[in-house]
Amino acid sequence: MNNKLALGIDIGGTNTAFGLVDEKGAVIFHDSIPTRDYNDAALLIDKIYRILHYTEFSQNIIGIGIGAPNGNAFSGSIEFAPNLKWKGIIPIAKMFASKFNILSYLTNDANAAALGEKIYGAAKDLEDFVSITLGTGLGSGVIVNGQLVYGSNGLAGEYGHIRVVHDGRDCGCGRKGCLETYASSTGIVRSIDLLDSPNKSTSILNLIKKPTAIDIFNSAEKGDKFSQEIIDFTAEKLGNALADFACFSNPEAYILFGGIAQSGEGFRTKVQHHMDEGLLPIYKGIEVRLSKLHGDNAAILGASSIVWSKKDKIKIT
Ligand SMILES: [Zn+2]
Repeated sequence: MNNKLALGIDIGGTNTAFGLVDEKGAVIFHDSIPTRDYNDAALLIDKIYRILHYTEFSQNIIGIGIGAPNGNAFSGSIEFAPNLKWKGIIPIAKMFASKFNILSYLTNDANAAALGEKIYGAAKDLEDFVSITLGTGLGSGVIVNGQLVYGSNGLAGEYGHIRVVHDGRDCGCGRKGCLETYASSTGIVRSIDLLDSPNKSTSILNLIKKPTAIDIFNSAEKGDKFSQEIIDFTAEKLGNALADFACFSNPEAYILFGGIAQSGEGFRTKVQHHMDEGLLPIYKGIEVRLSKLHGDNAAILGASSIVWSKKDKIKIT
């Protein structure tokens, strides 16, 4: 096999998924190991190395892209990640680079998702866009002039913590009213308790022990009025926020990524509608698109895309 391949690694609190991806976004090989089984990051790296070493592809790897929580793209280190066993500062990119003897890059999950959309996904034709990851929180990656915006410390694009409601819901960051307390899988579940509606007492959500965001979407589809109101409320909060965020970077589009986004076209249309209503007329025409990085490999694709975005450094021939 002569194909050049990027190794994409997504380190999560529970599992570490990794895979080999070609420049067109085809995942040639993938696997996953439980992160918690490895008390030391070096042991996890060693395991991945051994798994790949026995595949026919090990010679084709030209670079490594790592997505990780609290990943600092500038230092290549995971810094004080609350959901990982590895405490303190872990120079993970350097550790992968020396084990594989290949250039390695680290970024946080939200930025990896933005690059993934640019290289293989819904933003191939775009130079200016923002990807919005709707997961446990709300992550975002900002692309301007075809380049990811890192900011002075690598922390740009934390749209989840832009405050959209004065004195609103308590946020994990210690402040109130941040966007992710409304628009995320956690935020949407909080709306069950925090929203009032005449339809609440008769909602089928009352029959579910601990309803999740997916339960809300499923119930809405079955015609449950209260669930539909929660989704409308979420789409309105997100759409309004996206209308305001347009003033920062004048994007061509927003790309919705993550569990809620994958619930489909109905939610996307609502977000687009509310954004359009709130946009300054000069920004008219911004699209809301759904991610094209589908399924279980989305995070691997995102992480691997860093490699192709560094082509100039890797000198791919
Ligand atoms: Zn916050």
